[in-house]
Amino acid sequence: MKRSLHLFSAVCLACAVAILAVACSPFPEAKPGRRFQIIWPTEEGDYRIQRVHLDTFTEPHRLKGEVASLIVEPRLGGAGIEGETPVGRFIEASDGTLIPADFITHQGVVVYAHMERLKKFDDALGVGGEGFIWPARIGLRANVVDGQGPLQNNAVYDGTFNALFLVPYTDADLPITLNGGVLAHERFHAIFQYHVLSRLGVKWQAPDEVGHTLLHACGLDEHEPGVLRSTRSFSARSEGGKADREVSKLEYNRFLVRGLNEGFADFWGWVYSGDAGFIRKSLRAAGEVRDLGQPMDPLPSERTIRSSLWRLSNPRARSSLSYTFGSHYARFLRRLAEDRAAGGDERAARLEVARALVRALPKIAAAFEAGFDDEFIAPDVALRPLFEAMADVRASTCLIYDDFVGHGGGRSRPEACPRRPDPEFPSSGTPAAERLESERPAPLEPEAFGPRALEPETLGRPNPPGDER
Ligand SMILES: [Zn+2]
Repeated sequence: MKRSLHLFSAVCLACAVAILAVACSPFPEAKPGRRFQIIWPTEEGDYRIQRVHLDTFTEPHRLKGEVASLIVEPRLGGAGIEGETPVGRFIEASDGTLIPADFITHQGVVVYAHMERLKKFDDALGVGGEGFIWPARIGLRANVVDGQGPLQNNAVYDGTFNALFLVPYTDADLPITLNGGVLAHERFHAIFQYHVLSRLGVKWQAPDEVGHTLLHACGLDEHEPGVLRSTRSFSARSEGGKADREVSKLEYNRFLVRGLNEGFADFWGWVYSGDAGFIRKSLRAAGEVRDLGQPMDPLPSERTIRSSLWRLSNPRARSSLSYTFGSHYARFLRRLAEDRAAGGDERAARLEVARALVRALPKIAAAFEAGFDDEFIAPDVALRPLFEAMADVRASTCLIYDDFVGHGGGRSRPEACPRRPDPEFPSSGTPAAERLESERPAPLEPEAFGPRALEPETLGRPNPPGDER
């Protein structure tokens, strides 16, 4: 329990002390710009009790505001997702700061606060478009079941309802509801849903796969009253018989889409939180595999992925493998950002790569759309759209590309990169890095981003200056 319990004990202690000195206010007035005392990440990525400003949280007694509405114990009803109207309970300090008086309220305020920051993040990065849905809908203490029972220690994004379900957390670390990086990861799924999955339609969805981003596709239509059912319930039916045949193009391509979704979402969590180990803070086992602080590995080839899938008939194992595949991309994107940050603004560099990723998504969707049924889409399918969306491709970018794709790639190689020397006929003794630097290409379409500042002071850190106590 350690950190989270200590933190929450500290919250309760803070409440108790506050009760002695302040009036209890169960239905505080709506005051935009009000301060809340909650568990919030520091610049260093640690979680502490801090005072955080919220501009749009106009109905704290209902855990509701402009950017998000929360419900407790959501269920499916005739009108879609239903749930009890939550009651936010607060103690008001003498300076007007609202202190959550129970843990549901505390989680609700923290989740809302991250959604408010993530909305600003989206706006500044140009995320979304016609029909992109804010406010976010979030279910706390959601009862989501699979074939093995209720899910725990997870967050489930449902694309049909554009809703995020946070299921009960029973591990001994930082609850997912308080983890800004995980909340950003989940919010990215809404972006991917909007730009990629909705365009691909239902054919990307495999009825025998498992995983939270598929929840809406195959699970919710077979629900029982009061229970959200995940696609994992399909897994038992489909087991067996899979490994004795070839992996189809559709199976393979679905795997690739899912892996990209998860890898990009992990990158998004890092961009928002600035914490390469944000998953580990809540989910230790997954955190080791998906730690963005680990060195970047070369992207597996189509052949490797196909043979891995062929060997893994178990849907759960395939699901795990998609996260592993996604981690390759997450670390690659992080390395691009760090390269751009060298000697400059690290936060602005993160945002620059995040913006390029968002701009690349429609083209990535188009690439999948074109080849979904007809070919095994290359694992480096996302790279060309990404490089085209970047303000410039530097010599160092080319070196990172070579490390990532290695000699198995080529189609996605940025046009601005010099031809890779043929390893069989070295033309000179000049080290590759020096040669690339001397042949540094002109920047690509700098006007694509324009001179507009990325406003790093309001982004990339969930905690704006001045909120810390
Ligand atoms: Zn995810």
